[in-house]
Amino acid sequence: MNGVGAVAGAPRVLIASNRLPVTAEQRAGGVRYRRSDGGVASGLRHVARNWPVRWYGWNGIASTRPESAPLEVPEDPSLVAVALSASDVTGFYRDYCNGLLWPVLHGLTDDLPAGSPAWQSYVDVNERFANVIAGEAAAGDRIWIHDYHLFLVPNLLRGRTSSRGIPIAFFLHTPFPDPEAFAKVPQWRTLMTGVLGADLIGFHTAEYVENFLAAARELGHAVGDSAIMVGDRRLELVVRPMGIDADAFAHLGNDPNILAEVSRLRACHRKILLGVDRLDYTKGIHQRLLAFELLLQTHPQLHGEITLLQIAVPTRSDVAAYQDLKDVVENTVGRINNKFGTSGWTPVEYLYDTVDLNTLASLYRAADVMLVTPSRDGLNLVAKEFVATRVDGDGVLILSKYAGAAAELASALLVDPTRIKELAEAYYRAVTMSLKERRGRMGELLRVIRANCVTEWITQFVGDPPAEAVVVPRTT
Ligand code: UDP
Repeated sequence: MNGVGAVAGAPRVLIASNRLPVTAEQRAGGVRYRRSDGGVASGLRHVARNWPVRWYGWNGIASTRPESAPLEVPEDPSLVAVALSASDVTGFYRDYCNGLLWPVLHGLTDDLPAGSPAWQSYVDVNERFANVIAGEAAAGDRIWIHDYHLFLVPNLLRGRTSSRGIPIAFFLHTPFPDPEAFAKVPQWRTLMTGVLGADLIGFHTAEYVENFLAAARELGHAVGDSAIMVGDRRLELVVRPMGIDADAFAHLGNDPNILAEVSRLRACHRKILLGVDRLDYTKGIHQRLLAFELLLQTHPQLHGEITLLQIAVPTRSDVAAYQDLKDVVENTVGRINNKFGTSGWTPVEYLYDTVDLNTLASLYRAADVMLVTPSRDGLNLVAKEFVATRVDGDGVLILSKYAGAAAELASALLVDPTRIKELAEAYYRAVTMSLKERRGRMGELLRVIRANCVTEWITQFVGDPPAEAVVVPRTT
């Protein structure tokens, strides 16, 4: 990652997200930092390229330090670790954020925990973030808060920094469900009041904005098409899906080392279907496998000709629903491979691990078909990264119509991933699609991806980068 040289006294962008772009791991020789996984970290890394940044977030390990003491990450002093104790990790992160808010925001309200698990822990952690940021924010800075973990922070900061006139933006990276679903969170009114403390709120799609406006109306606020009145203060809402650094992925798509790996992958497989997801129940991995099984049942001529490569990135493995999902997915992979596999062919090649960016780019570039089939997804960056890497203009994207990215990527093969037969038919259509149609669709997708660059997405929320910024290399 590159960073901007600090110019003394220059205004900064103060970012807050639950996780930092680096994750600490406790090793025998001490703490070691690695790149964080997931879309929020991927997108926000780009801020530090052009803006002086101070980034507040959790470093991924439970802290025994006093809660009030934030800590700069030694390798990169622009990163500030906000301490979470073991009980915060359980209460705030596991039970309230992952156990309650995550399913509700994705419209999954059937099996919610009873009562309000760990609400007080959620309030405490939000207060801690607000205190740390308010203690450092200066006139001229801009504050940008991210995601559902920190819904209360905008309003807390408004109270603590109002005299300094610092603009506060918020971006929600998940869907925002209809108000009826959101009201399943007992504290939904307090959460809304928290986020309404921002001056500008961004979402990936128009649907999420409409739902948010409806919830604000339920709270009694006057709302317009893209604005809400909070007392006599007007706050703006904007539909601005996160972009990616398309040039960087195009560069990887042309890199000789990546192309050598692509040749190796293609020499071992005839047709490659690819899935790359955190092992999350919203990503539709199990349905994807069932559709692949159905494809092999109904099209025996594809046996030996086609392989599904599935990268399943470990995530939230302390939550019971994620442990259950891992068992179900791995049993299904085993069943398919037992049923159809031969000595020379493994139908599903499954990896439960993270992969580095070069490996990811090789997989994107080698795949015949990219499967992005979530039951619900705020956006989905993997779909965009796949397209941006395909500088050869080939490859087919199968995309769930329930992913936020579908609003932009209309030239993908759009599917309802809950309909297994429809999904299997889409696989067949993709692997038999003519080169002309593949190129036509991919050309249109590339045009869309290149038109929405991540730097413009950032500018929308924090303004233009300072003219005097000097780009210098960073260690992370
Ligand atoms: N990714 C990663 N390591 C991996 C696989 C994926 O860092 O092993 C990245 C991928 O490049 C993408 C992000 O994780 O930028 C996933 O973002 P997406 O929006 O698709 O899903 P999320 O995980 O945020 O729900």
